Amino acid sequence: MTPRTTTVAIVGAGPAGLVLAHLLRRAGVDVAVHERRSRAELEGAARAGVLEHRVVEHLRGLGLADRLVAAGERHGRCEITCLGEKVTVDYGALSGGARHWVYPQQLLVRDLVAAYEADGGTIAFSSPVAAVAADGAGRPVLDTARGELRAAWAVGCEGARGPVAAAFPDGARGPARRYPYDWLTVLARIDRPVGTIRYAVHADGFAGMMPRTAEVGRFYLEVPAGERLDGWDADRIRAGLAHRLGLGGADPVPGELLETGVLRMRGRVAGRLRHGRLLLAGDAAHTVTPSGGKGLNSAVADVVDLAGALLEALGDDGGGGDDGGDGGALEGYQRRRLAAAWRTQEFSDGLLDLLHLPAGLPPEQREFALRLRLERIRRIARPGPEAAAFARAYVGAGELRAEEAGAEEVWAPAQRSTVATGATPR
Ligand SMILES: Cc1cc2nc3c(=O)[nH]c(=O)nc-3n(C[C@H](O)[C@H](O)[C@H](O)COP(=O)(O)OP(=O)(O)OC[C@H]3O[C@@H](n4cnc5c(N)ncnc54)[C@H](O)[C@@H]3O)c2cc1C
Repeated sequence: MTPRTTTVAIVGAGPAGLVLAHLLRRAGVDVAVHERRSRAELEGAARAGVLEHRVVEHLRGLGLADRLVAAGERHGRCEITCLGEKVTVDYGALSGGARHWVYPQQLLVRDLVAAYEADGGTIAFSSPVAAVAADGAGRPVLDTARGELRAAWAVGCEGARGPVAAAFPDGARGPARRYPYDWLTVLARIDRPVGTIRYAVHADGFAGMMPRTAEVGRFYLEVPAGERLDGWDADRIRAGLAHRLGLGGADPVPGELLETGVLRMRGRVAGRLRHGRLLLAGDAAHTVTPSGGKGLNSAVADVVDLAGALLEALGDDGGGGDDGGDGGALEGYQRRRLAAAWRTQEFSDGLLDLLHLPAGLPPEQREFALRLRLERIRRIARPGPEAAAFARAYVGAGELRAEEAGAEEVWAPAQRSTVATGATPR
């Protein structure tokens, strides 16, 4: 079989791969997208739903958010409960008017696939890439389910542990953290929409309630690290959610559980995003816990930056010449997006610290830790510099371009549990 050739091979048709494919194809670059899942599996996989202001604005500018804007909902407030007090954080107002969009990931993916096809693009579904090697000139050669594919550049938009990352000398490993708890994740039918994101800081463990659609909500329950799903039947899950979230009155009631799982809570940032003609973006480059709703948002921000850098590199090497030169554009991508990934980890880690009690805390010290958290929660709700910084980082205020330049604001939680309670660092 004659090997196929392309300029940019993209592994993975999640949000990162799809947005990158759009941007390159529109600029006239030849692109081949391989996705291991079938179209139905890809378009049915429910994960994210809370989208940053700046990401949606950017997609809107590209004409890729018409259905999102028509069907999505805007959210500018969250509630955090602790010790029986419910604190409302009006992050829309605190950020100066930015709000989240709520639109399920699988619908966004479906829209991106449809728009790509309407532009004349094709995606090779059910077509895993088994491995990536290099030819004599250092150009990527992909072993795909549809035969060999030779490319000038290969981009791993493949989620964690994919074949492009595996072709990096160190497997694209980097600093990582395993948190001392996991989250039981639940998609449940609800009797009324989740009007407001709710986080519960509770002596029995964190719980969360996130909007998705009018009929379905996403819920989280903190469980011990390594917990298995077997011990959690539907009644126990519903009772845990109702108890920790303090559900009652006008709150939605979780009914049928449509999907349950245990999410291993990890943070990770690859040491490098580029090795020769191999590049990484999105979850392939970094994994962040869902605490701040940042994974999909970071994935889109990565590829918006990467598309510009790749176009510059392709101009410099005449479409993939043998020198591999890129005038530093791709090194710039790596530098900016690694810096952004660490800012995102810092934000999400700070939020996790606020939402969970320190591991192994004796019961008699729990109320003390809860009281400290309540003070911190009140502080991010009270207008002032810390509340504004939290709100802007949480909602993704501003523009993606400003983030690329490293000009975004950072929320630096003033008080962390390790300092405040003297507990063992986790
Ligand atoms: C429960 C949960 C809730 C979340 N909530 C939010 C949220 O509210 N906001 C937010 O921003 N983020 C959220 N996230 C994170 C978000 O879902 C991910 O960060 C996002 O999907 C990353 O996009 P991606 O394109 O980088 O990777 P993925 O979406 O993982 O896409 C990678 C694609 O590559 C394909 N692939 C893998 N290996 C191969 C191969 N060998 N060959 C071909 N294809 C391959 C996979 O099948 C997949 O389709 C959440 C995650 C979870 C689990």
